[in-house]
Amino acid sequence: PGDPLNVIAIDCRRAPEALRLGAVPGLPDAAYEHDGQLTKRHVRAATLGVLAPAPGELLWDIGGGSGSVAVEWMRTHRSCRAVTVERDPARAERISGNADRLGVPGLRVVTGAAPEALAGLPTPDAVFVGGGLTVPGLLEACWEALPPGGRLVANTVTLESEALLAQWYRRHGGELVRLALAHAVPVGGFTGWRQAMPVTQWAVTK
Ligand code: SAH
Repeated sequence: PGDPLNVIAIDCRRAPEALRLGAVPGLPDAAYEHDGQLTKRHVRAATLGVLAPAPGELLWDIGGGSGSVAVEWMRTHRSCRAVTVERDPARAERISGNADRLGVPGLRVVTGAAPEALAGLPTPDAVFVGGGLTVPGLLEACWEALPPGGRLVANTVTLESEALLAQWYRRHGGELVRLALAHAVPVGGFTGWRQAMPVTQWAVTK
Protein backbone atom coordinates (compact mmCIF):
# COMPACT_ATOMS: atom_id res chain seq x y z
CA PRO A 1 0.00 0.00 0.00
CA GLY A 2 1.29 3.43 -0.89
CA ASP A 3 3.99 1.87 -3.04
CA PRO A 4 3.25 2.57 -6.71
CA LEU A 5 5.31 -0.37 -7.97
CA ASN A 6 3.56 -2.83 -5.62
CA VAL A 7 0.15 -1.54 -6.62
CA ILE A 8 0.81 -2.81 -10.12
CA ALA A 9 1.72 -6.27 -8.86
CA ILE A 10 -1.39 -6.41 -6.68
CA ASP A 11 -3.60 -5.40 -9.62
CA CYS A 12 -2.07 -8.22 -11.67
CA ARG A 13 -2.95 -10.80 -9.04
CA ARG A 14 -6.51 -9.53 -8.84
CA ALA A 15 -6.95 -9.63 -12.61
CA PRO A 16 -4.85 -12.50 -13.96
CA GLU A 17 -5.87 -11.61 -17.51
CA ALA A 18 -4.16 -8.24 -17.05
CA LEU A 19 -0.60 -7.72 -18.22
CA ARG A 20 2.02 -9.12 -15.93
CA LEU A 21 4.42 -6.36 -15.02
CA GLY A 22 7.46 -7.95 -13.44
CA ALA A 23 10.01 -6.36 -11.18
CA VAL A 24 12.84 -6.54 -13.73
CA PRO A 25 13.21 -4.80 -17.13
CA GLY A 26 11.65 -6.25 -20.24
CA LEU A 27 8.01 -5.34 -19.58
CA PRO A 28 5.59 -6.40 -22.33
CA ASP A 29 5.42 -3.91 -25.21
CA ALA A 30 1.66 -3.71 -24.58
CA ALA A 31 2.37 -2.14 -21.18
CA TYR A 32 3.20 1.04 -23.11
CA GLU A 33 1.10 3.38 -25.15
CA HIS A 34 3.18 3.91 -28.29
CA ASP A 35 3.12 4.82 -31.98
CA GLY A 36 5.68 2.22 -33.00
CA GLN A 37 8.62 4.22 -31.63
CA LEU A 38 9.37 1.82 -28.80
CA THR A 39 12.44 -0.24 -27.93
CA LYS A 40 10.94 -3.74 -27.99
CA ARG A 41 11.00 -5.78 -24.81
CA HIS A 42 13.92 -8.14 -25.47
CA VAL A 43 16.18 -5.38 -26.74
CA ARG A 44 14.97 -3.19 -23.86
CA ALA A 45 15.90 -5.86 -21.31
CA ALA A 46 19.38 -6.16 -22.85
CA THR A 47 19.69 -2.37 -22.84
CA LEU A 48 18.78 -1.95 -19.16
CA GLY A 49 21.18 -4.78 -18.36
CA VAL A 50 24.15 -2.88 -19.73
CA LEU A 51 22.89 0.46 -18.40
CA ALA A 52 23.03 -1.27 -14.99
CA PRO A 53 21.15 1.27 -12.84
CA ALA A 54 22.22 1.61 -9.21
CA PRO A 55 20.25 3.33 -6.43
CA GLY A 56 20.24 7.10 -6.67
CA GLU A 57 21.65 7.29 -10.19
CA LEU A 58 20.48 9.69 -12.90
CA LEU A 59 19.86 8.59 -16.50
CA TRP A 60 19.60 10.80 -19.57
CA ASP A 61 17.30 9.02 -22.07
CA ILE A 62 17.81 10.83 -25.36
CA GLY A 63 15.16 10.33 -28.01
CA GLY A 64 12.63 9.17 -25.43
CA GLY A 65 10.04 7.80 -27.89
CA SER A 66 7.53 6.16 -25.55
CA GLY A 67 9.80 6.51 -22.54
CA SER A 68 10.27 2.79 -21.93
CA VAL A 69 14.00 2.90 -21.18
CA ALA A 70 13.66 5.74 -18.67
CA VAL A 71 10.55 4.14 -17.12
CA GLU A 72 12.31 0.82 -16.58
CA TRP A 73 15.44 2.55 -15.27
CA MET A 74 13.28 4.29 -12.65
CA ARG A 75 11.38 1.11 -11.75
CA THR A 76 14.58 -0.69 -10.70
CA HIS A 77 15.17 1.39 -7.55
CA ARG A 78 12.88 3.88 -5.90
CA SER A 79 15.76 6.38 -5.72
CA CYS A 80 16.67 6.16 -9.44
CA ARG A 81 16.04 9.34 -11.40
CA ALA A 82 15.73 9.93 -15.13
CA VAL A 83 15.25 12.73 -17.58
CA THR A 84 14.06 11.93 -21.05
CA VAL A 85 14.54 14.29 -23.99
CA GLU A 86 12.05 13.95 -26.86
CA ARG A 87 11.67 16.45 -29.68
CA ASP A 88 8.15 15.38 -30.73
CA PRO A 89 5.57 17.03 -28.42
CA ALA A 90 2.93 14.28 -28.88
CA ARG A 91 5.47 11.64 -27.93
CA ALA A 92 6.67 13.70 -24.96
CA GLU A 93 3.07 13.81 -23.75
CA ARG A 94 2.77 10.04 -24.21
CA ILE A 95 5.94 9.47 -22.16
CA SER A 96 4.41 11.27 -19.18
CA GLY A 97 1.28 9.12 -19.45
CA ASN A 98 3.33 5.92 -19.57
CA ALA A 99 5.41 7.03 -16.59
CA ASP A 100 2.29 7.79 -14.54
CA ARG A 101 0.60 4.49 -15.35
CA LEU A 102 3.73 2.43 -14.72
CA GLY A 103 4.42 3.84 -11.29
CA VAL A 104 7.16 6.40 -11.96
CA PRO A 105 5.45 9.82 -12.14
CA GLY A 106 8.74 11.48 -11.17
CA LEU A 107 10.21 10.93 -14.65
CA ARG A 108 11.24 14.33 -16.00
CA VAL A 109 10.31 14.89 -19.64
CA VAL A 110 12.06 17.60 -21.64
CA THR A 111 10.34 18.45 -24.91
CA GLY A 112 13.09 19.55 -27.26
CA ALA A 113 15.83 18.42 -29.60
CA ALA A 114 19.19 17.19 -28.40
CA PRO A 115 21.91 18.31 -28.20
CA GLU A 116 20.51 21.84 -27.60
CA ALA A 117 17.95 20.59 -25.08
CA LEU A 118 20.69 19.00 -22.97
CA ALA A 119 22.11 22.35 -21.86
CA GLY A 120 21.70 22.88 -18.14
CA LEU A 121 20.57 19.34 -17.27
CA PRO A 122 22.13 17.84 -14.12
CA THR A 123 25.18 15.61 -14.67
CA PRO A 124 24.11 12.05 -15.57
CA ASP A 125 25.54 8.77 -14.29
CA ALA A 126 24.51 7.09 -17.52
CA VAL A 127 23.27 8.20 -20.93
CA PHE A 128 21.11 6.19 -23.30
CA VAL A 129 20.80 7.34 -26.91
CA GLY A 130 17.77 5.82 -28.59
CA GLY A 131 17.29 8.50 -31.25
CA GLY A 132 19.10 11.34 -32.98
CA LEU A 133 22.49 9.63 -33.16
CA THR A 134 23.33 11.20 -36.52
CA VAL A 135 22.50 14.73 -35.35
CA PRO A 136 25.85 16.58 -35.54
CA GLY A 137 27.41 16.99 -32.11
CA LEU A 138 24.88 14.83 -30.25
CA LEU A 139 27.18 11.95 -29.30
CA GLU A 140 29.98 14.43 -28.51
CA ALA A 141 27.67 16.36 -26.16
CA CYS A 142 26.66 13.16 -24.36
CA TRP A 143 30.27 12.06 -23.98
CA GLU A 144 31.26 15.51 -22.68
CA ALA A 145 28.45 15.49 -20.12
CA LEU A 146 29.45 12.10 -18.66
CA PRO A 147 31.78 12.07 -15.66
CA PRO A 148 34.63 9.53 -15.61
CA GLY A 149 33.11 6.13 -14.83
CA GLY A 150 29.81 7.13 -16.44
CA ARG A 151 28.15 4.71 -18.87
CA LEU A 152 26.95 5.40 -22.37
CA VAL A 153 24.72 3.03 -24.33
CA ALA A 154 23.46 3.71 -27.85
CA ASN A 155 21.09 1.62 -29.98
CA THR A 156 20.38 1.97 -33.68
CA VAL A 157 18.87 0.15 -36.63
CA THR A 158 20.32 2.36 -39.38
CA LEU A 159 23.56 1.85 -41.28
CA GLU A 160 24.39 5.54 -40.97
CA SER A 161 24.26 5.50 -37.18
CA GLU A 162 25.93 2.11 -37.05
CA ALA A 163 28.90 3.52 -39.01
CA LEU A 164 29.20 6.26 -36.39
CA LEU A 165 29.06 3.75 -33.53
CA ALA A 166 31.77 1.67 -35.22
CA GLN A 167 34.04 4.77 -35.27
CA TRP A 168 33.39 5.52 -31.61
CA TYR A 169 33.93 1.87 -30.71
CA ARG A 170 37.33 1.94 -32.40
CA ARG A 171 38.26 5.13 -30.58
CA HIS A 172 36.90 4.37 -27.09
CA GLY A 173 36.45 0.59 -26.89
CA GLY A 174 33.55 -0.80 -24.92
CA GLU A 175 31.28 -3.45 -26.35
CA LEU A 176 29.62 -3.42 -29.76
CA VAL A 177 26.91 -6.03 -30.26
CA ARG A 178 24.20 -6.81 -32.77
CA LEU A 179 20.88 -8.06 -31.45
CA ALA A 180 19.08 -9.95 -34.21
CA LEU A 181 15.73 -11.18 -32.91
CA ALA A 182 13.16 -13.29 -34.70
CA HIS A 183 9.57 -13.95 -33.70
CA ALA A 184 7.57 -17.07 -34.59
CA VAL A 185 4.57 -16.24 -36.81
CA PRO A 186 1.97 -18.27 -38.72
CA VAL A 187 3.04 -19.42 -42.20
CA GLY A 188 0.06 -21.09 -43.83
CA GLY A 189 -0.86 -23.79 -41.34
CA PHE A 190 2.69 -23.86 -40.00
CA THR A 191 5.01 -21.55 -38.09
CA GLY A 192 8.10 -19.67 -39.24
CA TRP A 193 10.53 -16.99 -38.09
CA ARG A 194 9.98 -13.35 -38.88
CA GLN A 195 13.29 -11.57 -38.48
CA ALA A 196 13.17 -8.15 -36.82
CA MET A 197 15.56 -5.40 -37.95
CA PRO A 198 18.87 -6.06 -36.22
CA VAL A 199 19.73 -3.55 -33.51
CA THR A 200 23.34 -2.44 -33.16
CA GLN A 201 24.23 -1.56 -29.59
CA TRP A 202 27.34 0.15 -28.33
CA ALA A 203 28.01 0.24 -24.59
CA VAL A 204 31.03 1.93 -23.04
CA THR A 205 32.27 3.23 -19.70
CA LYS A 206 34.05 6.58 -19.86
N1 SAH B 1 13.84 4.16 -26.67
C1 SAH B 1 12.53 4.65 -27.07
C2 SAH B 1 12.35 4.64 -28.59
C3 SAH B 1 13.19 5.67 -29.28
S1 SAH B 1 12.59 6.07 -30.90
C4 SAH B 1 11.44 3.81 -26.42
O1 SAH B 1 11.70 2.70 -26.00
O2 SAH B 1 10.31 4.25 -26.37
C5 SAH B 1 13.58 7.47 -31.27
C6 SAH B 1 12.99 8.78 -30.79
O3 SAH B 1 14.02 9.76 -30.87
C7 SAH B 1 11.84 9.32 -31.62
O4 SAH B 1 10.70 9.50 -30.78
C8 SAH B 1 12.34 10.67 -32.16
O5 SAH B 1 11.33 11.67 -32.16
C9 SAH B 1 13.42 11.01 -31.14
N2 SAH B 1 14.50 11.91 -31.60
C10 SAH B 1 15.20 11.84 -32.76
N3 SAH B 1 16.15 12.79 -32.79
C11 SAH B 1 16.04 13.49 -31.63
C12 SAH B 1 16.75 14.59 -31.07
N4 SAH B 1 17.77 15.17 -31.71
N5 SAH B 1 16.39 15.04 -29.86
C13 SAH B 1 15.37 14.46 -29.17
N6 SAH B 1 14.66 13.42 -29.65
C14 SAH B 1 14.99 12.93 -30.87
